[in-house]
Amino acid sequence: MSERSLSRREMLRSTANLLIVGSASMMLHGCKKAQFRCDDISGLSEEDAKLREALEYQDRSPHGEKKSCSSCAFFRPAEADECGACTLVRGPIHPLGYCNSWAAKG
Ligand code: SF4
Repeated sequence: MSERSLSRREMLRSTANLLIVGSASMMLHGCKKAQFRCDDISGLSEEDAKLREALEYQDRSPHGEKKSCSSCAFFRPAEADECGACTLVRGPIHPLGYCNSWAAKG
């Protein structure tokens, strides 16, 4: 086997290793993002809690990340991996959440 084919093989192996490390890192970040919850509504007034319930807010969008709070025009993000806010629904809002008033960002 020539040195050239060995170095090509090593390069392919290194590339594969980088892809594996990158994928693992993205999966860990995704897991971290999914771990925290934004469902503590103990600080809300009864009226705000009822509106949140009426709009069927949930911490995980049934439509996936593309149609979740993070892609909604009413979402106000916080620091990374923390609950954000919403201009319509009071209380903590998960970036991966959803409610029936979802509207695409303009
Ligand atoms: Fe999330 Fe609904 Fe607020 Fe949009 S309106 S950010 S979908 S809670």
